[in-house]
Amino acid sequence: MAYLDGIKRVEDLDLDGKRVFVRVDFNVPLDNGVITDDFRIRQAIPTIQYIIRNGGLPVVASHLGRPKANPSPEFSLKPVAERLSELLPEREVIFAEDCIGDGVVEQSKRLEPGQFLLLENLRFYEEEEGKPRGKFNSDEEKAAAKKALKESQKKFAESLAALADVYVNDAFGTCHRAHASMATMVPFFGENKGCGYLLEKEIKFLGNIVYDPEHPFVAVMGGAKVSDKIGVIESLIEKCDQICIGGAMAYTLLSAKGVDVASSRVEKEAMDIAKSILDKAANSKCELLLPVDHVVSTALDDTTPCETVEAFGAGQMGLDVGPKTRELYGNVIRKAKSVFWNGPMGVFENPRYADGTIAIAKAMTECAGTTVVGGGDSAAAIRQFGMDDKVTHVSTGGGASLELVEGKALPGVEALRING
Ligand code: AMP
Repeated sequence: MAYLDGIKRVEDLDLDGKRVFVRVDFNVPLDNGVITDDFRIRQAIPTIQYIIRNGGLPVVASHLGRPKANPSPEFSLKPVAERLSELLPEREVIFAEDCIGDGVVEQSKRLEPGQFLLLENLRFYEEEEGKPRGKFNSDEEKAAAKKALKESQKKFAESLAALADVYVNDAFGTCHRAHASMATMVPFFGENKGCGYLLEKEIKFLGNIVYDPEHPFVAVMGGAKVSDKIGVIESLIEKCDQICIGGAMAYTLLSAKGVDVASSRVEKEAMDIAKSILDKAANSKCELLLPVDHVVSTALDDTTPCETVEAFGAGQMGLDVGPKTRELYGNVIRKAKSVFWNGPMGVFENPRYADGTIAIAKAMTECAGTTVVGGGDSAAAIRQFGMDDKVTHVSTGGGASLELVEGKALPGVEALRING
């Protein structure tokens, strides 16, 4: 099955004269009300522009941060409205001080061609996530609050749906959450629902890699914990020809193999998981590659000397993969027809330990096949190295991309499927 089957694209929808609810991900980093990275805002613009060009009246909605009360001025989307006005000088952005209510419905109905409405933060309402806030004296009390919230979540979803005639989801990074604006409100739109350009691109590239990869299919997995990514690694073992492992998770796996990794970061409580991954790989057609050399130091700071070793000395910790490993992994990546990468090879935030991660990014750019970077730290890394435009796709969603690759259904995507 092609992953996009049964999902309308924004271009398949009748938009002319219609109010279009566009769920985007404007969860941008803010420093004292100033947006420090507007990547996510710029990513949503093609869909908003397409809707406007085709006579639609966008009602744009997002969450921002983790507000605990309504309102929480520090989590207001107002700075996003200002940034949108700068990015789209030919359009008129109208900011709604709330995301539901009669006043907002009126604002949506007064929209004129070329204008769009940006709603205030959806998460000002606990109904958006469906998680009760506040302190509870007992589990029973919490369960009762959750049940009551389920009911009010339906009303909240209905109030959101009252703002539009058509629903478009372009918020891939939140698709693994069955939140009100991602899933609960969608049935109100019947078949007038679909995916925006960003979501389409995400599910096309990530979905193809999961369901129909061209071989050799190589995964590169790194990052801190093997326990966080066990489901993904197990699923990739069934699909990939090779998996290259780096980051701290490599030391947990090496340790499970009986290798002395000295003071490297090892998840002692994940030894059983690590052993089961090694067993699964040994009994599969997938080759699991572990680092053969390491950049080590006795402290993670800028002054303690670091060196490259193949065997660890007492007190040393592995902080990056070494040059032989970079060469080995790079060769595997360059020969692949499809590559999926998630997680840094070392403590890349410190330039002394970034070379392994840079080598993976570079090899991805030299691979002629489809190269997809899962979100999170690896996406941040490839952007930081200025190589993001030389790979096929850099996902905007960390958790969502991993759940998709793991083969889990994403509630935000499934809600869009017609007769699905
Ligand atoms: P994750 O969120 O699981 O992708 O992990 C990313 C984090 O893992 C980054 O902050 C890295 O600094 C950290 N990391 C990667 N390699 C190592 C290592 N060898 N030792 C300690 N931390 C690491």
